[in-house]
Amino acid sequence: MSNNNLSKSTENFPADSLDWKAIQLDMKNKLGNDVYESWLRKIDFVEELKNYVLLSVSTRFIRDWITSRYLDQILQIIKKYKKDINRVEIKITEQKNEALALDSLEKDNSYNNSKNISFIKDSYLQYNRIDPNKKFENFVIGPSNKLAFEASKKVSENISHYNPLYIYGGVGLGKTHLLNAIGLSLKNKNKVMFISAERFMYQFVKSIKSNEMVKFKEYFRNTDILLIDDIQFMNGKEAMQEEFFHTFNALLDKGSQIIISSDRAPNKLSRIQERIKSRFSGGLVVDIQSPDYELRSKIVQTKIEELSILYPNQSTISDEIKNFISTEVRTSIRELVGAINRVVSFSRIYNKVPNLSETKVILKDLLNLSENKVTIDLIQSIVCKFFKISKNEMLSSRRSRYLVRPRQTAIYLTKILTSKSLPEIGREFSNRDHTTIIHSVKTIEKLRKDDAELSLNIDNLKNKILYSQENEI
Ligand code: ADP
Ligand code: MG
Repeated sequence: MSNNNLSKSTENFPADSLDWKAIQLDMKNKLGNDVYESWLRKIDFVEELKNYVLLSVSTRFIRDWITSRYLDQILQIIKKYKKDINRVEIKITEQKNEALALDSLEKDNSYNNSKNISFIKDSYLQYNRIDPNKKFENFVIGPSNKLAFEASKKVSENISHYNPLYIYGGVGLGKTHLLNAIGLSLKNKNKVMFISAERFMYQFVKSIKSNEMVKFKEYFRNTDILLIDDIQFMNGKEAMQEEFFHTFNALLDKGSQIIISSDRAPNKLSRIQERIKSRFSGGLVVDIQSPDYELRSKIVQTKIEELSILYPNQSTISDEIKNFISTEVRTSIRELVGAINRVVSFSRIYNKVPNLSETKVILKDLLNLSENKVTIDLIQSIVCKFFKISKNEMLSSRRSRYLVRPRQTAIYLTKILTSKSLPEIGREFSNRDHTTIIHSVKTIEKLRKDDAELSLNIDNLKNKILYSQENEI
């Protein structure tokens, strides 16, 4: 959501041009009193811009809930009043501690003030900031992540003991958290650069275009600690890899510490030069595995305690629910943390702890994921049926228009409904490259914003996929 839009003049569109009261009434009639009272009544109208409407709610949780469940219908209702409107956005007016609790990405301004973190004066790099909440102290340890934790801790205490340190593991298992924690503990005494491989490439290309290669090199070669997140996305051209290799060596030569994260082991990286891979393997390589029940349960406990410090009046989540979450949400720690946030938010909004069946509703999508019932096969079948094409056609390499859109839709749904990585999805779609997968996902995301009908169809498909799960249970 762009905050810039908030300050834009709305001269041509007086704020009362949409009859929000009438729209609210329509929402109530169409979506029912319960849903209205629980969620939709909390929405405030902010303003109407060119062809979209900006609304606001108080917390991220409410926004996400409304966005995932009711936004399409809200748009349809608004369209009845003004058919030019093709998009609805909801901003958050949350307070600071709420943002903290919900593991927000938007909250940390400290990097702006910190002189010791070098960053290229470019708004893009602001994505690569150090989050003050992801530290060693709140990283819960179990057998699956102990080695990675200890190695990170050592690096943060004793520079250049292992160089580079290479941490790999699946999605949402704590790699970024560890890199962040290293950056956090070293940033006061060192020049720290924390960047994702994607941003590195972006910045590289941009610097070439704007003739600022010298500056680019300086920035990177001046760091004491270089943390590169998600190196698997580095698949750049020869020239970029060349530059990366030299930067890498220059840093090692001058004794800078390099820490890299990835979703796979160095030798499994595709499209990265052999010599770079062998450099990656030259230090210490550690992996993080899926958490066992013990660790999941410890994380649930810790996170609930953290939240209860933030909200002292909060009702106590029962052991039954804690147990349920620790047992059922298995795929990643990110989902586990997300599940806890939802349950706690629910208890704050309704002033009561959800019971088991309410918890199942709140966590429906996460449970489907972790039970692994949404298979790529199921998604492909349902999408093929909807578009009336055969599975062979979907998986073929043909690029006819009537095949491309369904294929992209199925890829997009696989991305949002399963926890498969991009390369895994690529393999399931006849060994397509992961850049093709990213492209498909981005295309559909963009279309969804501009095309309400398509968006509605996708939501229907999504429900079909999730619903067919339930029938099978
Ligand atoms: P990755 O980079 O491996 O995809 P992240 O580091 O982004 O995963 O972790 C996902 C979420 O889970 C973050 O909110 C992170 O703080 C949390 N998390 C991961 N591992 C742990 C842990 N061991 N203890 C506490 N929180 C964790
Ligand atoms: Mg990460």
